[in-house]
Amino acid sequence: MAVLVAPLLFWGCPKNDPPARPRATVSTSTRPNTPAPPVAFNGERAMDHVKKQIDFGPRPPDTEQLAKTRAYITNELKSYGLTVSLDEFTAKTPQGEKKMANIVAEIPGETKTLILITSHYDTKFYKDMNFVGANDPAASVGTLLEIGRVLGSRKEKPKASYRLVFFDGEEAFCEGWGDCGDEKNPDNTYGSRHYVSQLRARNELESTRAMILLDMMGYKNLELGRDPTSTKWLQDIIWQTGRQLGYEKVFVDREEGVGGDDHEPFLGGGVAAVDIIQLTSYPHWHRADDTIDKVSAQSMKIVGETILASLPKVTEYVIKNNPQAPNPKTIQE
Ligand SMILES: [Zn+2]
Repeated sequence: MAVLVAPLLFWGCPKNDPPARPRATVSTSTRPNTPAPPVAFNGERAMDHVKKQIDFGPRPPDTEQLAKTRAYITNELKSYGLTVSLDEFTAKTPQGEKKMANIVAEIPGETKTLILITSHYDTKFYKDMNFVGANDPAASVGTLLEIGRVLGSRKEKPKASYRLVFFDGEEAFCEGWGDCGDEKNPDNTYGSRHYVSQLRARNELESTRAMILLDMMGYKNLELGRDPTSTKWLQDIIWQTGRQLGYEKVFVDREEGVGGDDHEPFLGGGVAAVDIIQLTSYPHWHRADDTIDKVSAQSMKIVGETILASLPKVTEYVIKNNPQAPNPKTIQE
């Protein structure tokens, strides 16, 4: 056998073979001509953000748990390449002064026209209930983070500038939304009211042309009705887009009676705004069983994909039509 092998080895190594091709062309890490596929909304990632928030425990304003949540959201946004800032303030509440902070991430566009995509990130305070808020608000925070990852991955600048805003202090400290406070100082929407005042102070309120609010949109039996206080054209774009994507059973026409949320201070400031919320048909609202088994990756994906597909249409609409919300009121600061 040895005698036969030797010539084969010799023949196998001819001296006149062409030189090997440069290795760079076969490397998998450097393929300049293969564009990476566009980053898509991933419902499982959004679900992971829900888990992480719940792991921190109940997260009312001015608690260590909400500070941890804030650090988590901030680090995630930075890891997507977004510029993040905090809008910090002190709010007078029925439980005394509370330190609060909205989290703001920028996706700069070709123009200063601003479109906000938002959610609150605090959970409602309960003295005697372990309220972890899987749908209210962990799912909308998880969805907004995943929207941020998709937008941050895009190389081309959008026509309008997008801003993701995570509001502190949406929930009332008292049991009901209107139980405490007065018209000038309501016991709710602390973060969104402060943010509108900041936009006004920085002369950015006029260039803020649309505000999209996600609040309780992760229920596994997702069905989104129309909030009658929302701006009609903005709601129509989102509902039509959702239906075009095949989600006609989710974006339905029944009225969803919300009656005020973080979009309200924006409407009052003359900004078109829409609330995407499932309140009346969510049986676990403000209950100890608003737990992770009630939300689904698919529901977050449905809303996330719909918002991402709606953004260019909303941008086109505001640039073309220059719409104003009817009867802007003066916001109490
Ligand atoms: Zn709530």
